[in-house]
Amino acid sequence: MSKKWVYLFDEVEQAEKDVGGGWENVRGLLGGKGANLLEMVRIGVPVPPGFTVSTEACNAYLDSGETFPEGLKEQILEALKNVEESTGKKFGDKKNPLLISCRSGGKFSMPGMMDTVLNIGLNDETAAGLLKLTGDERFLYDSYRRLVQMFGSVVMGAPDDDFEEVITKARLKAGVETDTQLTADDWKDVTKKFKAIFRHYAKRDFPTDPYEQLNLATEAVFKSWNGKRAVDYRNAAGIPHDLGTAVSIQTMVFGNMGNDSATGVALTRNGTNGENRIEGDYLTNAQGEDVVAGIRLTDEISKLKTEMPAAYKEFEQFSKMLEKHYRDMQDVEFTIEKGKFWMLQTRDGKRTAQAAVRIAIEMVEEGLISREEAVLRVSPEQVDLFLHPQFDQEAIKAAKASGDMLATGINVSPGAAFGVIALDADLAEKWANEEGKDVIMVRPETKPDDVHGMLASQGILTCRGGRTSHAALVARQFGKPAVVGVSDLEINMSEREIRVKGRVFAEGEWVSIDGTEGILYAGKLDTMVPDIKDPYLMELLTWADEFRRLGVWANADYPVDAERALEYGAEGIGLCRTEHMFFETDRMPHVQQMIMTDSPTERREALDALLPFQREDFIGLFRVMDKKSVIIRLIDPPLNEFLPLQVDLIQELADLKFRLRDAGTLEDTNRLLDQIEEKRQILKRVESLHESNPMLGLRGVRLAIHIPELTAMQVRAVIEAACIVTKEGVEAHPEIMIPLTSHVNELKSQRDVLEVVAKKVIEEQGIDVHYKLGTMIELPRAALIADQIAEYAEFFSFGTNDLTQTVFGISRDDAESSFLIEYMEKGILTENPFAVLDREGVGELMRIGVQKGRSVRPDLECGICGEHAGNPESIQICHELELSYVSCAPFQIPLARLAAAHAALRDKNK
Ligand code: PEP
Ligand code: MG
Repeated sequence: MSKKWVYLFDEVEQAEKDVGGGWENVRGLLGGKGANLLEMVRIGVPVPPGFTVSTEACNAYLDSGETFPEGLKEQILEALKNVEESTGKKFGDKKNPLLISCRSGGKFSMPGMMDTVLNIGLNDETAAGLLKLTGDERFLYDSYRRLVQMFGSVVMGAPDDDFEEVITKARLKAGVETDTQLTADDWKDVTKKFKAIFRHYAKRDFPTDPYEQLNLATEAVFKSWNGKRAVDYRNAAGIPHDLGTAVSIQTMVFGNMGNDSATGVALTRNGTNGENRIEGDYLTNAQGEDVVAGIRLTDEISKLKTEMPAAYKEFEQFSKMLEKHYRDMQDVEFTIEKGKFWMLQTRDGKRTAQAAVRIAIEMVEEGLISREEAVLRVSPEQVDLFLHPQFDQEAIKAAKASGDMLATGINVSPGAAFGVIALDADLAEKWANEEGKDVIMVRPETKPDDVHGMLASQGILTCRGGRTSHAALVARQFGKPAVVGVSDLEINMSEREIRVKGRVFAEGEWVSIDGTEGILYAGKLDTMVPDIKDPYLMELLTWADEFRRLGVWANADYPVDAERALEYGAEGIGLCRTEHMFFETDRMPHVQQMIMTDSPTERREALDALLPFQREDFIGLFRVMDKKSVIIRLIDPPLNEFLPLQVDLIQELADLKFRLRDAGTLEDTNRLLDQIEEKRQILKRVESLHESNPMLGLRGVRLAIHIPELTAMQVRAVIEAACIVTKEGVEAHPEIMIPLTSHVNELKSQRDVLEVVAKKVIEEQGIDVHYKLGTMIELPRAALIADQIAEYAEFFSFGTNDLTQTVFGISRDDAESSFLIEYMEKGILTENPFAVLDREGVGELMRIGVQKGRSVRPDLECGICGEHAGNPESIQICHELELSYVSCAPFQIPLARLAAAHAALRDKNK
């Protein structure tokens, strides 16, 4: 007996048995759409009879050079008979013909990326039979032309535009505005013209044998798995390429059988803000793809309530039933045929980050899911979207006042974006990827072929389409701001310009879109970071905090950063890079003086001048971080970073010498000579500090050993600040951190110097403050001898930026813009190791570091302060290594809180 390739819709139990149980496996076998059709039948939702051809059949077909595997044809025919019996209709019958649809659907939803053919089984003879039965000639020829059209474009690859042009001309000729106003005769004529287009492209007549239609359509769906747009989408969404698509073959029900028929798509909750209210679009007297493609102006689902109250009630009841059953918001497709309600499809609905959070929270309140599930349902990347820029309120006000607020549309994917107008996907991709431009892709509506342009763009704008249109779904999935259905927007492709209420913008001009509000603006509006005080997000993060084991700290240099970090939930400061303050204009002269001079007195003066600045910096941080740890790292970068560039100095010297030649007075001459001498000295110092590899040179602890007065000043500033705030009643927890340690003797020598200073300050201030002394572990040697280091360090912080750089021997400043990209393109590295922690190399050294360090000091605080601390995959590794905390940028704190909870829950559920 051949393998079972085909499952009737009432065979869900059989499918479960064949895959050895597990819903994921059933979805893998029958595709999401197929599995859900079978599941809907099981729970009693009205679904038109049909069957699903498995993904295994698709893979067998594609692997064997495009031939049906053994037994597949027979099983399809058998299943078809079964459908004939349950519908009382016969496929290809002249009197009572069965019409079917052939729909694609892989394990993971890929909206519109693969193919579907409707109305299979129609030919001149069955059409005549159906006409007798329905008496509705208009419906019949509308259906027939759709089959020819879909068959032409999907199976034979004829361009959509040729077909659309015929319809547009028919509308013009009839003097009507919408397709529904076209008559039976119009559609009859359109069908004839479609057949001619078909003949032109397929070099054969339209196939009249229904079985041939079915075979060809099934093959076309199989092949569409490897179509360019499906492959592009899978690449972008990270979906494996070897899953294959299932094909669901289903009895047609018709939403275009008159005014008591309709078709629509809906989300059981609002996909943009998560509100618990059904939202969707439908069309009376139409077929499904009209709604999804967004090519006709749809009605809001609420109107259906008054138009067809009984059907609406059923729709509402079954939608809620599905949501309860799947315990998640559903995206459904339905058809009403002469008042009878049918559900055609259900799947988990796509949603914005905001909606994902609100739905998760409310489903816990409704008792549908647990807190743990709610936390797991929102991804750290979705939380990150909360921090995406929005337009500055002042910029919005100004735009409104000057008439630059052009039009409104539907706000389907939140966030603010600006860019130059690109009117097709290829140009959008070219401008964005090759020329580095910010692009807003503007289209009448988007189609699956446009996805590459959408991915490259900052935002998406369309004139047509609704909340469930293709543009909306894709934009939401990839977090691209989008405004669709802007009815005031006209696109003139031949002039390559857009027109909005009389204003004209050429392709390449700037526009801004607000996907949160659904507004189009002229020009480029300023953006700002939004307030993330979304109450639902706050609640979700509090739940996440209950589950996570890792602490979440922040890298913050200034009190304002610390305040923001605290607001987002930081539990400490894991890294304050003290040298950042040196770059400020009032400090730079002192820093330069300190570096330039050879005289100990002058250096002392420069450091004395810097001390109050640093002390104020730390006072500010301690005040904000009352009761929480603040890790202050002593100066790290090479000194030449604080001096002017050599080339600039040479240029300035040349200028001065040139001016000297023309100096008029003795006074001018002397002044210029002084300046030249000064520049020469600086140049000499810069040259003497020049290093071939400054990142591996005189920096970090080496610098501190070289200029002990510098770190002595910094420690004095830290301890004085701690004493001062303690007197105010603040609880300061300073932790002084030494960077770039590689040998234990470095630490030993520093500790001796620092402890003397600290002790002295504490005596002077007459108040005791507790402080910790620790080090960064950012060189491989430090990790390997962490037990020796732990004798002298009370805490470790893994500096994975430098550690990655030194483990790989790759300069982080240079590699990311050069060969690293090539490495990733060629698959030599799957991830950028400066973004995602390298588990096997860097991670292994960290493991050794933690283990050796804690072998000496069991309670050793071990954190991470490299960029990886804000990356979910790396946070997972940090959890596994049992670090004490991750310390990331303030904006990454919410994401890190959630990622840390995910890691802990995965651990628990293992
Ligand atoms: C690191 O090396 O990971 C680190 C945090 O230090 P910096 O990036 O300042 O060198
Ligand atoms: Mg470093």
